[in-house]
Amino acid sequence: MTKLDFYEVLGVPRSASPEEIKKAYRQMAVKYHPDKNPGDAGAEEKFKQAAEAYEVLSDPVKRQRYDRFGYDGLRGVPGGGFDPFGFDLSDALRTFMEGFGGFGGLGDIFGASHARTGPQKGNDLQVRLRLSLKEVAFGVEKKIKIKRYVKCDSCDGRGAASLKDIQTCSQCHGTGQVRQVSKSLFGQFVNIGPCPNCRGEGKTILKPCSACDGEGRVHGEGMINVKIPAGVATGNYLTLRGEGDVGQKNGSAGDAHVVIEELENREFERHGDDILYTLNISMPQAVLGDEVEIPTLNGKAKLQIDAGTQSNKILRMRGKGIHHLHGSGRGDQLVRIAVWTPKKISRETKQLFQKLAHQKDVVP
Ligand SMILES: [Zn+2]
Ligand SMILES: [Zn+2]
Repeated sequence: MTKLDFYEVLGVPRSASPEEIKKAYRQMAVKYHPDKNPGDAGAEEKFKQAAEAYEVLSDPVKRQRYDRFGYDGLRGVPGGGFDPFGFDLSDALRTFMEGFGGFGGLGDIFGASHARTGPQKGNDLQVRLRLSLKEVAFGVEKKIKIKRYVKCDSCDGRGAASLKDIQTCSQCHGTGQVRQVSKSLFGQFVNIGPCPNCRGEGKTILKPCSACDGEGRVHGEGMINVKIPAGVATGNYLTLRGEGDVGQKNGSAGDAHVVIEELENREFERHGDDILYTLNISMPQAVLGDEVEIPTLNGKAKLQIDAGTQSNKILRMRGKGIHHLHGSGRGDQLVRIAVWTPKKISRETKQLFQKLAHQKDVVP
């Protein structure tokens, strides 16, 4: 993704008011709209860039972040998960719709309303991915099996029993659109809508493929590879473009959203990027001190217990926690001391404690 200067894209000064930004965007969007420049990749790119710039500069929070931190400041914007900032033509068209009042707005600008033609995009899918604390701490690469619509091999996604069974729609002559002219108070109004005969596809199928009932896709399975960065948390998600359901009749595929769920860990409790471990020590260890071995996220480590350690004291082992998601380094491992009180004791131990109980220096 190239890093654009959003102000340059819209041709406005950095001090531009929201009205100036909206006006500049509207002029560009109308000029470069794909409906006005069919097949012109350069215009489409300009249209996308303008929409992306407007998306950021019209939102006070995003604009402020962009002004302060530049392009990278937009990565952590709420609602973004840690999805890399991606912006495609469908996003650009949505921005345009939202900015100028939906379909009616387009009609006002071009003298006709917009019609969606061609095969529909497949659905987005959501997959839950459960991760252990260790996988979260260090990051992990996973293969996930996903149930989704896949292209029908029998008809190569076309939905027809054979190529001869595909015919150009007689009603719209393959354009997928029909024009309806109506008169209104303000004059003649041209409405362009999807063709009802072919549902905007421009083609009709005489004999549908029997394997997919003419849909061009069948239920199937796929494997997706995901690389999970260290430091993620429950609710974070990754978007994998084009890994969702394929659309009907060779429509493009939707996306797969991989949503993270952390599994509970018996030894450690997570607190942000720190982990908490409770260590039971004996009364003599608390009084006399000791060196003990305790588990960490990467193997055993030695820990020094000082003489006279109180219960509930927290010891900090720096850099033994979870890798930070943003930036380098790791959180800490916290060790909470719990002095363990024995319940069943021998006669001999009991006598020792009875002796101790009369010592003045053991009383709080
Ligand atoms: Zn048609
Ligand atoms: Zn088929």
